[in-house]
Amino acid sequence: MLVLVVNCGSSSLKYQVRELDPGADGGTVLTSGLIENIGSSRIADHTQALELLAERLEDELDGRGIDAAGHRVVHGGELFSEPALVDGGTIGAIEELSPLAPLHNPAAVLGLRAVQQKWPQLPQVCVFDTAFHGTMPEHVWRYAVPEEFYERWGIRRYGFHGTSHDWVTGQAAQFLGVPRERFSCVVAHLGNGASVTAVKDGRSYDTSMGYTPLAGLVMGTRTGDLDPSVVTAVLRRDPELTPERLDAVLNKESGLRAVAGDHDMRAVQEAAERGDERAELALEMAAYRLAKYVGGYHVAVDGAQALVFTAGIGENAAPFRARVCDRLGALGIRLDDDANAARSRETRRISAPDSAVEVLVVPTDEEQAIAAATAALVTGPAAG
Ligand code: ADP
Repeated sequence: MLVLVVNCGSSSLKYQVRELDPGADGGTVLTSGLIENIGSSRIADHTQALELLAERLEDELDGRGIDAAGHRVVHGGELFSEPALVDGGTIGAIEELSPLAPLHNPAAVLGLRAVQQKWPQLPQVCVFDTAFHGTMPEHVWRYAVPEEFYERWGIRRYGFHGTSHDWVTGQAAQFLGVPRERFSCVVAHLGNGASVTAVKDGRSYDTSMGYTPLAGLVMGTRTGDLDPSVVTAVLRRDPELTPERLDAVLNKESGLRAVAGDHDMRAVQEAAERGDERAELALEMAAYRLAKYVGGYHVAVDGAQALVFTAGIGENAAPFRARVCDRLGALGIRLDDDANAARSRETRRISAPDSAVEVLVVPTDEEQAIAAATAALVTGPAAG
C-alpha cells in the first residue's frame, strides 16, 4: 500500500510517500518533498498546498493513488495514548488540545482538514509525539503544584519525541535480540531539540521533556531544566520583558547558542577543538546534564540493558557521545573508541565487550514509524 506521511507546520507541509507491504516495518520511500510559504500570494492556505501536493504526486507516482495518510501531530494530551484512526471527533479533539501546543496542533488540524477535503474517502491516521509517554506512572507525570493547575489548565508532564523514542526502542531490542516487553533502556534523542527517555519493559517510564519541550537537556537554543524562580525574577526585574518575549529567550536564544554563540553542534564542536573556551563549557554543560539524566534513569528502570543514542547529534557526534559516556564509568559503561568513531547509517554497538551496559547508535526515522503505524491501523481490525 502507498502511505502519504504528512508533517504540517503553520506555513509549510513536509511529505513523504512510502510503499509498504502488509505487516512490514516502514517500507521504501517513493517520493518526498516540502511545500513552503503557505500563506503567501502563491499558496494562500493549506487547501491550496494540498492541490499543489496532489499535482506533484500525480507526476511523481506515475498516476498511482495513495491508500492512506499518516499525520504527525505534536500533542495528544491525555486523550491519545496511541495512534488514532481519524473519525468524526478526532480532528475537533486535536483542535481542543491547541492551548497545549499553540504553534503545532492548529497546523496539524489545517493539514488534516485539507487532506480530508481533497480526498474525502482516504483513511487518515494521527501519530502523536506525546503518545508513547502515556504509560508514565502518575508519580512521574505529576508536578508538585496546586491541584488547580492540573485541573484547570492540564499542567502536568507530557513528554515529546515519543514517535522517535518508541521506534528506536523497538529497533534496539531487535538488534540485541531481546523481547521488547523485557527490554529496559535509556534513549537519548539528541537533535536541535533533545530529550532522554527511561524505557522500562519496552514502555516509557520517564522522560526529560515536560509540560512543554523546553524542559530537560541543554539543547541547541533551549535552556532545558531551570529553577522556575529564574522566570519570575527576571520578569520582576525587567519591566519591559513580557512573558512572550521571555518565552522566545528561553526557547530560541538559550542552550548552546547562549553559552557558545552557536546552536549547531557541529559548529560548537569545531570551535571547542580550536580551543574556544565558551564552546568547551557549552559541551561540558550539555554532556553533564545528559549524563546526570542517564544515571537517574538507570535507577528509574532498575538497571538499563542499553544506552541508545539517536537523532542528528546522537547519530553523528562521536566526540559528544564519548564526552557523555566518559562520565558514566560508575555505571560500568565503557565505549569502544574505534566503534564510536566509525561512521555508519546502520544500527550499531559502540560499547566495549566488558561494558556493563550496551551502548548503541540507532538511526531514528519518524516518517517510517508514522507510515508503519498508519498501515497497521488502516489494515488492522480497528479499520473494520
Ligand atoms: P532536528 O531536531 O531539527 O530534527 P537533527 O536531528 O537533524 O535536528 O539534529 C541536528 C543537530 O545534529 C545539529 O546540532 C547538528 O549540528 C547535529 N549534527 C548533524 N551532523 C553532525 C555531525 N556530523 N557531527 C556533529 N553534529 C552533527
